[in-house]
Amino acid sequence: MSKKNQSKADAYSFFSCIEKNFDKAARHLSIKKGLLEQIKSCNAVYRMHFPVKIGKEIQVIEAYRVQHSHHKLPCKGGIRYSIKVNQDEVMTLAALMTYKCAIVDVPFGGAKGGIKIDPQIVSAENIEKITRRYTSELIKKNFIGPGIDVPAPDYGTGEREMSWIFDTFLSLSPGEVDALACVTGKPVSQGGVRGRKEATGLGVFYGIRELCKMKEEMLSVGLDVGLNGKKVIIQGLGNVGYHAATFFHEAGAIIVALAEREGAIYNKKGLNVSNVILHLKKTGSILNFPESKNIEDTEKALELECDILIPAALENVIHKHNANRIKAKIIGEAANGPVTPEADDILGKKGVLIVPDIYLNAGGVTVSYFEWLKNLSHVRYGRMEKRFSENMNTELLQVIETSCRKKIPIEEKKMILRGPREIDLVRSGLEDTMINGFHKIRDLKKSLKIENLRTAAFVLSINKIIDSYEKLGIFP
Ligand code: GLU
Repeated sequence: MSKKNQSKADAYSFFSCIEKNFDKAARHLSIKKGLLEQIKSCNAVYRMHFPVKIGKEIQVIEAYRVQHSHHKLPCKGGIRYSIKVNQDEVMTLAALMTYKCAIVDVPFGGAKGGIKIDPQIVSAENIEKITRRYTSELIKKNFIGPGIDVPAPDYGTGEREMSWIFDTFLSLSPGEVDALACVTGKPVSQGGVRGRKEATGLGVFYGIRELCKMKEEMLSVGLDVGLNGKKVIIQGLGNVGYHAATFFHEAGAIIVALAEREGAIYNKKGLNVSNVILHLKKTGSILNFPESKNIEDTEKALELECDILIPAALENVIHKHNANRIKAKIIGEAANGPVTPEADDILGKKGVLIVPDIYLNAGGVTVSYFEWLKNLSHVRYGRMEKRFSENMNTELLQVIETSCRKKIPIEEKKMILRGPREIDLVRSGLEDTMINGFHKIRDLKKSLKIENLRTAAFVLSINKIIDSYEKLGIFP
């Protein structure tokens, strides 16, 4: 974000933006004010400063872990490494995690962490020192553990950081048999689950694909049903944006523009995502990609002609100053909080369909939930049933072949015989979650005549949280 637009966004409290969305939803429900306040507020905010020796100097690092809700335990949410990390941001992101988990029936309370460093300029060795020290601070205050609070990757972090967290936790918790479940997003070789890395991007794809199947919605924005041929712009080529772009491309959508920090590239006939990534790896930038036009001001890419716009980087990138210039008919919030409430109103009046973050980017935490379950059960998905299914399928095919007196071609046979592998189970669980989530929100929007999908998603989420409070007997 440029300095000018950063200051526009800075004028907001991010937390109050989410409160506004929450309050809009609360108007559709008759819930006691005190209970709504309890759901909205952050249960625990841990702000820490710790010293780390960097070179010959001692540097004091500012970091956070916020647990927004304890209505289900453990708390769950990523850890962000960015120089822009601040308390308001971490609190908001933690709150979004609570609402997100409730929508997709993932039984966790929301949390988020953040360390105020720029991972682009800090060396790997120092990032490791900082990550390990942060983890031991969390252990000291009982802010991490398989049943307490389970971090995961977020902006600026990935598998590498998660394995350092796990290793630090394990070395300070000898004999903890469930230690693997203290963090998710780990490499598969260290207890991670297959399919976690691409989960958020794939979830975004499943969610938008489902919306594009709906005749009524497509008619309302003047588009044909289906993803094939739809023009898509993706802002942010990190883990989420990169995978989302790949899945849209594979499904036949046309990726007309990709935007990164340094600028954007545009080709109205479509960009080949894997070639762009090769170019990025080779040159260190997406700019100057063959057969594409450079756009120096990356924010301008959001305003280009397209059907679907996917902001997949940071919050507040669509605000009241650029909302009117957005030409997309559908906005899929792959990032957390990319559209400010003012922009939301402007876009709503223009008839733009916004698929909200608290639903659309829930694929990451959904597969984190699968990883956590795998870690607690100490068994890989598919281990028990793979061979059994293959044997059953073989017998079934034999019966079919004998009774039809016909041989099934070998390639088809192989496909049908195959028992489920971990990746198959994870992806089908994710697909099912995203499709169900979409229809629950859509049905609620229709039945309660709610103005848009975001408010409907909040209504669904609040209802689920209230349900669990009632089950706990806390607020009868
Ligand atoms: N950081 C991701 C999110 O914002 C994933 C969180 C998790 O897996 O716990 O949803």
